[in-house]
Amino acid sequence: MKIMTVDLEEWFHTPFFKGKKERYYTHTVVEQLLDLFQESNVKSTFFIVTELVKKNPEILKKIAEAGHEIAFHSYDHELLFQKHPKQFLKEASYSKKLFEDISGKQVLGHRAPCWSYRAKNKWVPKALKKAGFKYDNSIHSIALRHKYDYGKPYYEDDVLFIPMPVFDAKFLNIPPGGIVFFRFLPLRISEFMFNQAEKDYGYAVFYIHPWELYTPPIDLSSIQKTIKYYNFSFRKDTMLKFKYLINKYEFFSIEEFIRSTEK
Ligand SMILES: [Zn+2]
Repeated sequence: MKIMTVDLEEWFHTPFFKGKKERYYTHTVVEQLLDLFQESNVKSTFFIVTELVKKNPEILKKIAEAGHEIAFHSYDHELLFQKHPKQFLKEASYSKKLFEDISGKQVLGHRAPCWSYRAKNKWVPKALKKAGFKYDNSIHSIALRHKYDYGKPYYEDDVLFIPMPVFDAKFLNIPPGGIVFFRFLPLRISEFMFNQAEKDYGYAVFYIHPWELYTPPIDLSSIQKTIKYYNFSFRKDTMLKFKYLINKYEFFSIEEFIRSTEK
C-alpha cells in the first residue's frame, strides 16, 4: 500500500531558518494542495504543527472536511530530543484536544519534527500513550545499513511505531518517498526505489511539505546559496513529478493503512 503524508509546517520551521517566525503562508496554499489531492483521489495524513492551527484554525477544518486524516507534528517544530518530556506531554495533550475540537475527528498519530525520535528517548512511547496517541511515524533510518534497522511496524507501550520503509542500497538505507531523494533524483529512480520499498515492507510512505511545492513569500535571492539549493530548488519539477505519481498510483492515509492491516 502507498501512503501519502504531508508535514504541514511553515518554510521557517526548517532548521535553517530557526527563529524566523514571520510570514505565515501555508494557509494560503492549503486549498490548492487539497484540490490537487481531490483531482487525483488521494487520501492523506496531514501531520500538523500546532502553531499553524493557532494562527489559522480554519485550515485544520478544511483538511478534515476534505476527508483527510489529522495528526500531530509537534507544537512548534522543535526537535523531539530537545524537548523536556513534561513539556512534550503538555503540548501533545493540548494539541490533540485542540485538533479534535476543531476537526470533530479523533487524532491518532504523531510524527516528530525532522525525524528526531531516537531509541534512547525511552520516555517517548509512554508520553505518546499518556497523551492518547495510537501510532507514531517518526522513525526514519536514513543511515548506514543495519545501524538503525527498525524494520517493520512494532508496538511499544501500546503505541504502534510505523518506521519509514527504506530502499536497501547495500551501503545506505534510502527513504525514497520524499524530500531530498525525491526532489534531487530523476523521477524513474525515485519511483523504482519507492515501489521496491513497498514490496519489501508491504507499505511505502511518501512525505511532502507545502514549501517544496509552492514558493514561499520571501526574497529567495537573499538566502545563502547552499540553503536555497537544499530547500527551494526544483520546485517546478517537484510539482510535475508529484503530479505524475499521484495520478499513476493510489495513495491512502496512515489511518486507512492501519485499518487494512487489522482486517
Ligand atoms: Zn517537519
